[in-house]
This record gives sequence, structure tokens and C-alpha cells, in this order.
Amino acid sequence: MSGRVPLPMGVESSKPRRTAWRLLRLARFHRFVAHGGAAVALVMVSLCMMALYEGRQEALQRARETSQNLLLILQKDISRNVELYDLSLQSVVEGSQRADVMALPSAMRREVLFDRSTRASYLGALLVLDAKGNVTIDSENLTPRQANFSDREYFTIHRDHPNVGLYLSEPFRSRLRNGKWTVVLSRRVTLPDGSFGGVALVAISIEYFQNLLGGLDIGNHGVLMLIGENGALISRQPDRSATGHSLVGSDNFNRFQRAASGTFAGTGTMDGVRHLYSFARIPGVPVIAVVGPAEDDILENWWRRSVIIGGLMLAFSAVFLFVSWLLAEELRERALAQHALLEQATHDKLTGIANRHALDETLSSEWRRARRESVPLAVLFIDVDAFKAYNDRYGHSAGDVALTAVARAISECLHRPADSVGRYGGEEFVVVLPETPLDGALRVAESIRERVARLAIGHDRHSFGVVTVSVGVALSDSPEVESLVELITQADKALYRAKEEGRNAVRAA
Ligand code: GH3
Ligand code: MG
Ligand code: MG
Repeated sequence: MSGRVPLPMGVESSKPRRTAWRLLRLARFHRFVAHGGAAVALVMVSLCMMALYEGRQEALQRARETSQNLLLILQKDISRNVELYDLSLQSVVEGSQRADVMALPSAMRREVLFDRSTRASYLGALLVLDAKGNVTIDSENLTPRQANFSDREYFTIHRDHPNVGLYLSEPFRSRLRNGKWTVVLSRRVTLPDGSFGGVALVAISIEYFQNLLGGLDIGNHGVLMLIGENGALISRQPDRSATGHSLVGSDNFNRFQRAASGTFAGTGTMDGVRHLYSFARIPGVPVIAVVGPAEDDILENWWRRSVIIGGLMLAFSAVFLFVSWLLAEELRERALAQHALLEQATHDKLTGIANRHALDETLSSEWRRARRESVPLAVLFIDVDAFKAYNDRYGHSAGDVALTAVARAISECLHRPADSVGRYGGEEFVVVLPETPLDGALRVAESIRERVARLAIGHDRHSFGVVTVSVGVALSDSPEVESLVELITQADKALYRAKEEGRNAVRAA
């Protein structure tokens, strides 16, 4: 028992602790990588989706702005022309109310009544009807054409309502112009006595509106419309044949009617296409102008971009997720491997308690702590009695089982969290009891001796008949102990005495 090789304390002792730290870091890092990877991918996808959504809103906003500009063009062009035609009409009305003008020879009368604007390209005849609806003055013929328009709405309206002022008719097929689609601007002729004297009117060819709309670009599936306030379609681009079609009752027309101007998305009643409609009144005439680019046209480029960017982003996120998952798995495996390594490095394979390395580490750190804090550190050196004989009698496997049982019995006698036991080597164990004075250490030693004996592992080549242990106790605060090596040596010496004095005994240094 004596002359033991001194412990190589503290040399490699910090290795397991470093390994444990790395293990903890790895385990945390593995989780961080797995969760962090998912979070980053999620953030990337969300940011991308936000940017794409913003792009969509911008495309729609740009389309609305373009529509507003087109509406402005329509409003300006139509109101300027209507204003010009109305001036001509007014001068005809005034002239036809003057007896001196009406008394002029018809050729001269025409010179006086009709200025050059009545020959503008889209204008049809400028006519004056008498109170019965017969043509009395015709800008296109010296002798007025024989016709009666008392059935036309523009005639009856002026006849029945003196204060209509300038009136724009619904589109109709002109009898004088081979059935061509026409609208008529008209004013009432009031006689000096205030009674109805007839109607002055100018016919405007629908081509004017059609060419106006046709000159504007509204995209492949967009629509431009001029609608009378009563719901009759004056002109539509595309589909010129829709002139005269009534929109009364359609949801979209109801919305056009409700406000002076506005913007909304809706499905076209005539084409079934989703449009972003912008609409406004034409000043001076009861006409609503509608500009409706197709949503598909507006968003075509945005869609193409989104599919490419979104696809790339998703692919990138998937790769990123996969790589972070791979990395996390790798880290997890490394943590597991390290854990296994740490177990191996710090635990005794047979008994499962701390091995010599871990024991050295504990002894070294507890020794330093005891010195630093001036508290007693007790060490128990435990040796199984007559164990060579046990092996010889029962075999090494039985010996291993007995050793494991002894190790567990020792562990079960330690109750404080700081107490620990390690396998010193062979059938020898060392118990470390920090901050424990002699009497406490002796009590623990005695409980260990007693508990092992009570295991009652049969041993017929030993004087006690069962497996027993001898325990040597040493304290760090005794005067002859100057170093950890001495503390162990003292415990070993005490053990030697316990052996000499009959075994199955506890002795203090
Ligand atoms: P003493 O009472 O003086 O301690 O006698 P002893 O026979 O126990 O002492 P000795 O040092 O002569 O023998 C120790 C024996 O312990 C040697 C070996 O057969 C046995 N031994 C050491 N380690 C193990 C082990 O891991 N398993 C087994 N089965 N036996 C071991
Ligand atoms: Mg021994
Ligand atoms: Mg022994």
C-alpha cells in the first residue's frame, strides 16, 4: 500500500472541463444555426414578398395616373369642340330669330348664318327646323332637303322644355346621312313672343369620337368609352360597333353615374375582362368618359418580374434552409460525439463513476479552493480487502461485478452536492469531501465501510466472510499536509494502518 507513485495532478486535468464547455457551446450553436437558418429564410422570403407587393401597388398607381392623363385629353378635346359647335349653333339661333336675316335671299342668308366652322371635318349638316319639325334652313343645300324631324327626341325636348339650353342627343342612325351613327347638338329657337319657334341643330359624326378614342393607346385588352349620362354608349374603343348599346343596369355604369369622377376595379360587362376603371364627366355635356386599362396588361411586366424574382428567392431560401439544416445536423452529430468523448474521458467504463482523470481534476480544484477559502478538505482512500483472493476464488467477471457494487455503495453514502468519488485504479477508490472536518469525514468513511459489508457479497477466502473495504482518512488542515500530494500520501498511510490493524476498518492520518 505504501510507496505509491504521486498523483500527476493538474497536468491534464483541465481537458475534460474544456471539452464540457465546448460541448455546451456546440449544443447551443447547433440550435442557433437550425433556428437562425429558418428565421433568416423566413425574413428573406417576407422581405421579397413585401417588395413584390409594393411593385404591384406601384404598377397600379402608375396605370391610374396614365388613365387620369387620358381622361384629361378626352375632356379637353371634346369640350373644346362642343364649345365651338355651340358657338355656331348660338349664332344660327340668334340669326334665325331676326326677321331681317330671315328676309335675306337664301344664299346670302346662309352666308350670314353659317360660319366656316360648320365645315369642320366631323360635322354634318347644320339645320334649322321650324315649330313643326320641318327643315327650313340647311347648311348643305340652298333649297333645304325635305325632311321632318318632329319625332326626334331632341325636337320634343326643346318643344316641351324651354330651358334645356344646349342639348346632346343619344347616338342614332341619321336619316339624312345614309344611316350613319350620329349625335346631335341642338338649341331651341324661341320666337320674340316666347313661343316655340323650332330647333337649330348640328349633327356630329360618331367617327369624331371614334377617331379621338382610336388615337389613344390603352393596351391590348384595355377599353375607352364615352357614355351618355342616360347610359347609351356613344363610342367604345375597341369594338366600334357597340355604339348605341345601352349600359343601363350594369354595375359598372351605376358606379360611373354615382360620382363625378373616380377609380375602381371591375369586370367589363361587354368583354368579361378585369379593368381598372377611371372615369370623369366631360364639362358642358352630359357625357362620361371612361378609361379602363386591363389589369392583366398593367400587371404583365410585374408578373413576369415577380415570377423570376420570387422563384429565385424561393430557390435561394430553400438552398439556404437546406444548408443550415445540414450544418445544424453536422453540429449536432459533433456535439453527440463530443458528449460521448467527454463521457469516455471523465468516467470509468466498468463502474460508471469518475475516472482517474476526472478525479485528479476534482482533487486539484478542490485542493486549491480549500486553500483559498481556508476550509478543510477531507480525502478518503478506500481499498477493497483481499480482492486478489476474491478474483482467484470467484473469477475476474465476478470480481468486476463486485467492484461495481462497491462503487455504487460508496456513491450512495455521499449526500452533499460537492462530495464526489472516483476510481483511483484497480480496486481502489478516492472520495473527496470539500469543507468537511475530521469527524464528518470519519462518519462518512464509517458509513461506507458498513454499507459495503452490508452488501454481503460472499467471500470465503476472507476472514470476514464477505467483501469489505478499508478506509484511510486525511484532512488538508492537518499541520504535516503542505501539498495535495501529501494529503493523498497521508490518506494512503492511514489506509495502510487500517489494513495492518485487521482490515474492514477506518483509520485517520
Ligand atoms: P489487500 O487486502 O491487502 O488490499 O489485498 P488485495 O488482494 O486486495 O490487494 P492486491 O493489491 O494484492 O490485489 C489487488 C487485486 O485487485 C489485484 C487484482 O486481481 C484485483 N483487481 C484490480 N482491478 C481489478 C478489476 O478491474 N477487476 C477485477 N475483477 N479485479 C481487479
Ligand atoms: Mg489495492
Ligand atoms: Mg485490496
